Amino acid sequence: MPRPILATIHTAALRHNLARCRARAPDARVWAIVKANAYGHGIERAFEGLRAADGFALLDLEEAQRVRALGWRGPILLLEGVFELRDLELCSRLGLWHTVHCNEQIGMLASHKTNVPHRVFLKMNSGMNRLGFTPERYRSAWTRLNALPQVDEISLITHFSDADGERGVASQMAVFASVTRDLPGERSVCNSAATLRHSEFASDWVRPGIAIYGSAPDFGQHSAAEWDLQPAMTMAARIIATQDLAPGDSVGYGSTFVAKDAMRIGIVACGYADGYPRVCPSGTPVLIDGLRGCTVGRVSMDMLVVDLTALPQAGFGTEVTLWGRASNGAVLSIDEVAHCAGTVGYELMCALAPRVPVLVEA
Ligand SMILES: *Cc1c(COP(=O)(O)O)cnc(C)c1O
Repeated sequence: MPRPILATIHTAALRHNLARCRARAPDARVWAIVKANAYGHGIERAFEGLRAADGFALLDLEEAQRVRALGWRGPILLLEGVFELRDLELCSRLGLWHTVHCNEQIGMLASHKTNVPHRVFLKMNSGMNRLGFTPERYRSAWTRLNALPQVDEISLITHFSDADGERGVASQMAVFASVTRDLPGERSVCNSAATLRHSEFASDWVRPGIAIYGSAPDFGQHSAAEWDLQPAMTMAARIIATQDLAPGDSVGYGSTFVAKDAMRIGIVACGYADGYPRVCPSGTPVLIDGLRGCTVGRVSMDMLVVDLTALPQAGFGTEVTLWGRASNGAVLSIDEVAHCAGTVGYELMCALAPRVPVLVEA
């Protein structure tokens, strides 16, 4: 028997979450963001749940090829554009749309030999200071692109740094709107947080990623449940041993947890080599047989430990849900676990380890 650990991808949850994003921006088309192998869910596994999207956006040409191999004939957008001239050949061949964020990419397009002009998304750096032309240089970049025979339609794109927080999107949006005011072309500005929180800026294409996977982009202000998002990934394992502790007994490496009273613990077949964060402290929530409980002691490579003192019915073989949905329907949001690890749901889902078997639930 394989180790009793399993990740489940919930197709119905992906479908539901995508519909929630669409409902926030009913007049926009929706890019399903599937970079980083669909945020760890697996492009092939997530595809069925996301096929109602209007397009798929990602980073790697290899991922774009995989989406085409699934039979997707609709739009695919490369969010960082191409990295070298050769990449443009594949864009022509597969009909990929691509971001243009720097002069080097304009240069590559100018020397690309193609009969099929490309649909491009010209990126503005409106304040994030990662990718894109500054507002001052944006219009001249547009003019140079527009003069190239290799370029078909030019769409306009920018990315928000604070859509999930207090600063919001107003100042970036004002810069983008004023620089692009009289330029033709479709617009795309909203990630998940902006789609949910600032849907008045939805424009032509929204770009939700994390929300379609059922994690709240602004956890701390809103939970996934408050946004009516459902977990698209469950990480669950079983108890493979129990121990009875006397007061003063310690648990795990470094003896960081010491029992104050007599207690019973369960050893769970999930550790940091499966993608569960080692930094999660004692007290991180779990669902034991669908009931809320918590971890004790350090997470090790292949195991972690949970407190069974209040759950006498739990023992060898009991299901422990690390995040997602338990068999009884109870939900533990990945955001809660991520918060205990000092990080965000994105990082946990992307870190699902290759050794964990994955089941796709219809
Ligand atoms: C990753 C990404 C998104 C999606 O962001 P979420 O916070 O996951 O919704 C949108 N746009 C761009 C350019 C991205 O790189």
